[in-house]
Amino acid sequence: MMKSYATTAGSWIELSTSALKRNIAYLKKRIGKGSHFVSVVKGNAYGHGIEDYVPLVERCGVRRFAVSDATEAERANRVRTEGMAIMIMNHIDHADLAWAVERGISWYVFDLERLDASIETAKRLGKRASIHIEVETGFNRTGFRPVEMERVIERCRHNADVLDIAGVCTHFAGAESIANYYRIQEQRRVFNEVRAQWEASGLRPSAYHVASSAAALTYPETTMDLVRFGIAQYGFWPSTETRVQNMMNGETSFSKDPLVQVLTWKSRVIAMQYVRTGEYVGYGTSYLAQRPTQIAVIPVGYCHGFGRSLSNLGHVLIRGHKAPVIGMVNMNIITVDVTAIPGAESGDEVVLIGKQGRHRITVSSFSDLANYVNYEMLIRLPSELPRFVVD
Ligand SMILES: *Cc1c(COP(=O)(O)O)cnc(C)c1O
Repeated sequence: MMKSYATTAGSWIELSTSALKRNIAYLKKRIGKGSHFVSVVKGNAYGHGIEDYVPLVERCGVRRFAVSDATEAERANRVRTEGMAIMIMNHIDHADLAWAVERGISWYVFDLERLDASIETAKRLGKRASIHIEVETGFNRTGFRPVEMERVIERCRHNADVLDIAGVCTHFAGAESIANYYRIQEQRRVFNEVRAQWEASGLRPSAYHVASSAAALTYPETTMDLVRFGIAQYGFWPSTETRVQNMMNGETSFSKDPLVQVLTWKSRVIAMQYVRTGEYVGYGTSYLAQRPTQIAVIPVGYCHGFGRSLSNLGHVLIRGHKAPVIGMVNMNIITVDVTAIPGAESGDEVVLIGKQGRHRITVSSFSDLANYVNYEMLIRLPSELPRFVVD
């Protein structure tokens, strides 16, 4: 794949179609035919890039997307094809509701003000507003409390001519950790009570949905009508605990991970330096060459999400070998030791996250080192970096 990227960007991201296909096939198999796959693309598609990722997911047969706010919905909307659903799980200004109605975009409603604004907007436009009623079941973030539900149902019934109840939903407070087991069970109990109220109302919401990746992979009963898959579709387990649980209960094998990372982050060596014994490398005195050392310079730094905590600690891959980061991570530059890599030269491809030869640098190893979890690490990948879809 030849592209003219390196001159401006310094590094770029490749998205693997085959990896994504595998992940989606695996996750669809896990949730079964009765439940729809929703691709959560908030946070710039977890750093993968909304504009590149949404069309790719579509090609893999997914027809529903979820975003956090209206700005992300706008970006997804520009690249989606006709008939693809978008739901906004968090913020949209009342002033933007008309925009969403016109485009058939649905949104979460978690207070009466927004419910009224939704009804008012739909009436004004003479079109139906498609809404998801979010229930507060114990997460204590957003959602109607169960005591408010009768009132909500009444108001929805009253305005049934302008409302599509696309969903009744909630979100769990950390299904990726067994420590939250009882809290999750309590949330399920509360949700099921609210669900019974809706079922008795005769209003027939199109979907009941509660599960994210961790919930779907840990508590199969939570998959309901659709699952909002974030992290798992990108090829990551929500936590090591989730992975281990799935191995223990025989869902996944110990040796082969059914999830494959979709993203590879690459760069190139832009300069080589030969350093003599006793010389320092980079800012300050954090690295002193103990022997003659061949150094490669790479145009990536903490402004791209390559954390300063990886100074003298992280690795990259060059010519299929691991090259340790030496010295401080700069804003736009890192230096790595390539003394042991025969033939390393300027122009060599560098893998910062992903596979090269027999080695792999996973986001998780990277984030353990840099002290942030996969989610945060991915999302720090700058949106300006070019993304390329590969096979
Ligand atoms: C982010 C998010 C998800 C997806 O979570 P993952 O753990 O990445 O699968 C699902 N639902 C809601 C409401 C979210 O905010």
